[in-house]
Amino acid sequence: MEGSCPWPVAPVRNPQAAAATPSGILTPSSSEVASLLNSNSHHRPLKICGGGTTSRCAAEAHWTVDLSPKLRQLTVDQQTHRVRFGSGWTMGELQGELAQWGCMVTTGLSGLPGVGFVLTGGMGPLSRSLGLAIDHVQSLSGIWGNGQPFALKRAELSEASAKHSIQQWTALLGAAPFLGVVQEIELRTLHLLPLTVVQGCVDPNRLAELITAAEHFPRGLSLQWCWGEAIEVMLVARCDDPKAVETLSDLTRTIPLNDQRQTTAAGLHQLPAFGSRAFPSTQDLVVHQEVIGLLGPGWGKATPALLQALNAAMANRPHPRCSLSNQQLGGAVADCSSQVTAFRHRDAEWKPWITASWPPDDHNARQAALNWLVRVWEELSPYCPGIHLAQLHDHLPWHGRELEAAFGPWLTPLRQLKQQLDPEAVLPPL
Ligand SMILES: Cc1cc2nc3c(=O)[nH]c(=O)nc-3n(C[C@H](O)[C@H](O)[C@H](O)COP(=O)(O)OP(=O)(O)OC[C@H]3O[C@@H](n4cnc5c(N)ncnc54)[C@H](O)[C@@H]3O)c2cc1C
Repeated sequence: MEGSCPWPVAPVRNPQAAAATPSGILTPSSSEVASLLNSNSHHRPLKICGGGTTSRCAAEAHWTVDLSPKLRQLTVDQQTHRVRFGSGWTMGELQGELAQWGCMVTTGLSGLPGVGFVLTGGMGPLSRSLGLAIDHVQSLSGIWGNGQPFALKRAELSEASAKHSIQQWTALLGAAPFLGVVQEIELRTLHLLPLTVVQGCVDPNRLAELITAAEHFPRGLSLQWCWGEAIEVMLVARCDDPKAVETLSDLTRTIPLNDQRQTTAAGLHQLPAFGSRAFPSTQDLVVHQEVIGLLGPGWGKATPALLQALNAAMANRPHPRCSLSNQQLGGAVADCSSQVTAFRHRDAEWKPWITASWPPDDHNARQAALNWLVRVWEELSPYCPGIHLAQLHDHLPWHGRELEAAFGPWLTPLRQLKQQLDPEAVLPPL
């Protein structure tokens, strides 16, 4: 099971994780994952690596459990509109396979992330009309942290089901990384949805106007932006939603973007790259990064003042690759009750994320970047009090605060569940 390579290569794509020296890399097959989680295993401590895009998929003196090489099964069922796939796939690879069948799943702004995308909620430019990735999960199977297998199906759960099964299913949809290793996921598929995408750059005043307009968008249209050296925006409209297409066309007349480009995509698999125009001169710098994702309701009348404060924060960022981005939610995200998944902030309209960047091995620059991240978090937290735990920070002092903000009162029952399912805390601490 152990890979021959003593250091992490692909799929550890996150530069900080890739720079760590792990105890070794394990590449288990489905039947070998249980023995790694079993209390007899001498492979401790562990880090689980799916798509390998976060800073904690590999760490100093931890064994990396790399799921990507062997969990590669994939079955598309066109009758039931389902895809079942192993946890080794990235979202881009999955969309590429599905496009050949004329279908897709709801993914985010990049194809790079692996199944961590789905397991932590998974939001994207179509979430306003289609909800989160977890809302499309039909079944999950894998191994709990205590080494016991699980296999849960949405269709088999009803009000009459055992309370513990419902609780486990609810927890897996958003908090799986704390409880077990998911080996296989079944998602509902959708026909490919053609999209119109408009990208360009704006100044902070125009961005405030766009945010205000976006809070009245129809569900088929979404705004995302990335603020680094410049502010890049991306508007994504569903071509099958006439109101969305009309609103997009009106908007680009009333609030024109600099260097505006319009493209069409046959589906999410063709979504153009987003973010590089925000870093025209620093995109190729090698940096280490930590990212924190916030969640909050509409900003309404507070938008201009908040943008002014964020403008000041951006002017004081300690490294040119420190950035602030935002993704629009709302719409169908709130159609699902906040009680049926571990994603509790169903009222969120915005998911801003803050990226702290520093040159590798520069301790002072790292601290300055993390301090900056916390200052921007403080600035935003009155408006975005929730957390989207898409990245885990159990190595940083604010892990506990993030857990509280992500799960709120549900953290206590979740901790009780972890006590049963991962009593030795083989998986990340909760
Ligand atoms: C370029 C880019 C764009 C992104 N865009 C979006 C976006 O539009 N929307 C959005 O919601 N998020 C987005 N993200 C965030 C991303 O979806 C999350 O950080 C996600 O957790 C990454 O998953 P991964 O498998 O690649 O990460 P990894 O680093 O491999 O895993 C992250 C953590 O998840 C856990 N994990 C991974 N696989 C499993 C498994 N099979 N079972 C149990 N636990 C597991 C592990 O604890 C691991 O430490 C983006 C990230 C990047 C890098």
